[in-house]
Amino acid sequence: MLNTISFAELNLAPEILKALTESGYTTPTPIQAQAIPLVLEGCDLMAGAQTGTGKTAAFSLPLLQKLLPHASSSTSPARHPVRALILVPTRELAIQVEASVKAYAKHCKLRSLVVFGGVDIKTQTPHLKTGVEILVATPGRLLDHIEMKSVQLNQVQMLVLDEADRMLDMGFMPDLKRILALLPKQRQNLMFSATFSNEIKKLSAEFLTNPKLIEVARSNASAENITQKVYLVAQEDKHALLAQLLRGSDATQVLVFTKTKLTASHLAKQLQKDGVAADAIHGDKTQLERMQALDAFKQGKVTVLIGTDVAARGLDIDSLPMVINYEIPHAAEDYVHRIGRTGRAGASGTAISLVSPEEERYLAEIEKLIKHEIQKETANVPRTAARTERALRGEHHSERSSHAPKAPKEFSQPAGEANSTGSRVPEKSPPPRPAAAKKHGHDAWFDKPYEPSASATPVKQPDAPASKPKKEVAALFVRRTS
Ligand code: AMP
Repeated sequence: MLNTISFAELNLAPEILKALTESGYTTPTPIQAQAIPLVLEGCDLMAGAQTGTGKTAAFSLPLLQKLLPHASSSTSPARHPVRALILVPTRELAIQVEASVKAYAKHCKLRSLVVFGGVDIKTQTPHLKTGVEILVATPGRLLDHIEMKSVQLNQVQMLVLDEADRMLDMGFMPDLKRILALLPKQRQNLMFSATFSNEIKKLSAEFLTNPKLIEVARSNASAENITQKVYLVAQEDKHALLAQLLRGSDATQVLVFTKTKLTASHLAKQLQKDGVAADAIHGDKTQLERMQALDAFKQGKVTVLIGTDVAARGLDIDSLPMVINYEIPHAAEDYVHRIGRTGRAGASGTAISLVSPEEERYLAEIEKLIKHEIQKETANVPRTAARTERALRGEHHSERSSHAPKAPKEFSQPAGEANSTGSRVPEKSPPPRPAAAKKHGHDAWFDKPYEPSASATPVKQPDAPASKPKKEVAALFVRRTS
């Protein structure tokens, strides 16, 4: 869509325009061009916007503009009550949203703060008590602060529910209701959601007043600037295929999704052995470790970051060129969220999914949701002697071709990786592993503290270290099926 309006034409204040120029923004994205005038008018908003569309600035910029009359350089906490509350589902998203708010508010005398769980609440309280106009929070931690009386919400005039569909998926509805009951009735409400489920419509009917509806992409559609591709492959061949894809890729940053944190850790270790600078980001790591892994990824020290849906949600990495679904999500909406990590703000991106025969039914659901058939190729990853030997010893479930129609039943359960609850609770521990795979659970590596990768290694590794034999991949043959 051609979008020629400028930020200045949106009547934003000079302080905000200056910060935008410094952030390198030249033109508003479509969601910004639509949302900013409506928010400035004072309307409630129900916005359907995928991640990567620039939705954070779409609500933050008019929010700052509306709070500008309250800007104050006074040191008195009383002069800095919470006037805007931004609720988000995850700590990563909370951190990123607040970082954006801070960047846009750089030249305004307005304070912002982020609070989220998983860190000592006492470290947040003093900052809250000094007074902040804009508070970004995850619902659970905000309720903790409310109980501790470290925050007052009786002056909130603007409420933003970001990634509202995620908040519902994660079971935050009761928390949201408790928080919303504490806010002044007179306020402006902005709700952002990537998908428009019936629950979201119900939530919007409950909390919004005559909302204006805006949508920048068809709801539940995946971004058009993302090239999507599926490789049909047996679960046991996925690592070999992934290693091959990474070697053949020029992408400097690749985000890989797995269904469980155990698979994420295991895969990171396997790829490190292959000579790829990979790391895992998941709920078993502390917030500090997760931020370190993310920083290493952003700086290019780590080129492949592997995460689960929960860990990777909200990650904002500029120009991420490639996302790979090592396992596709069981909830089709999660696919839209995952691939939305690439192709941000109009840039092009590639989303590759490795789909085992057992996952094909989930693929069909995804295609139904995005109303688009994804190009598929059958990957035939040849066996090396080591793998054949393992298979003969029974350590792998099948030596059959990846999509052989009569695969034995146990072939359908990747060892220890299946999660029958689907990705809505992706951080849950996986079910007990079959005996043949148990040795992974005893791998001491999983007990070691996390150490971020030290050196910058490009994804493309034509020459793997001599000490690490390439036992998995000889070559990759691809047969086009559609
Ligand atoms: P979001 O959808 O809010 O997560 O934003 C996705 C990315 O787009 C972030 O890296 C923003 O910094 C960037 N972005 C947002 N608005 C603009 C804009 N108008 N011009 C260029 N980049 C933008």
